[in-house]
Amino acid sequence: MSGHTDMVLVNDDGIRIDGRKCDEKRPIKIEAGVLKNADGSCYLEIGKNKVLCAVYGPRECRPKHMQDPTKAVIQVRYNMQAYSVSDRKRPGTDRRSVEISKLISEALSSVVMTELYPRASIDVYIEILQANAGTRCAGLSAASVALADAGIPMRDLVPAIACGKADGHVVLDLNKEEDNYGQADVPLAIIPSTDEIVLLQMDGNMTREELDRGLDMAFGAAHELNEIQRDALKRRYTEKASKEASE
Ligand code: UDP
Repeated sequence: MSGHTDMVLVNDDGIRIDGRKCDEKRPIKIEAGVLKNADGSCYLEIGKNKVLCAVYGPRECRPKHMQDPTKAVIQVRYNMQAYSVSDRKRPGTDRRSVEISKLISEALSSVVMTELYPRASIDVYIEILQANAGTRCAGLSAASVALADAGIPMRDLVPAIACGKADGHVVLDLNKEEDNYGQADVPLAIIPSTDEIVLLQMDGNMTREELDRGLDMAFGAAHELNEIQRDALKRRYTEKASKEASE
């Protein structure tokens, strides 16, 4: 988020470098139940981002000192693969991945009925296979589908998408160039049934009016993303049901 580049991020016709209009999100593809040996799983693409999420649990929380006698803990590991970015990323945990794991865990805790599973752990593994900005949103959107696929009781799914500002324009769902050289990046995650916000961060600067416009776009896009999440789960359950019927 430097805000300085010679690169034109939005041209005179209001078109961005990947051909999108300012209020357009990237193409989204979601598939639930892609891993046989996990309790729940999801593969999600948004633009060039590719994310795989696996869920285990609820199961006994280990190590024991992490247990909560009143509810389950949601342990998230967000991991960016070394090959996911153009400059090879040093493998393993770093400050950024610890922070993102924590905020995804907190967002998921708002919807998962953790009170049903005291002392248990629900483990969520998010692997970023390919990154092009917006991976925390992609990871969180995939994680809530994987949790639902695992049959874990939840109040709702959690769609997440960013808005921001590039070349002075309010834009939806920033790509890597806009994230690097734009003026603001604002990831947002919501509970669609109540429009409560469960994640909101801001990097850069926008006026209050620009932020209002950006959030309007992001709320609208999050509701559309929620429909795609629900469709993925419906497809998964229909497939499961027809497989069971033929057995
Ligand atoms: N990125 C990278 N190397 C890193 C971390 C990030 O190349 O070690 C890229 C990657 O494409 C990522 C983008 O920078 O999606 C924006 O990263 P940010 O920390 O803003 O998180 P994100 O937008 O992915 O949630």
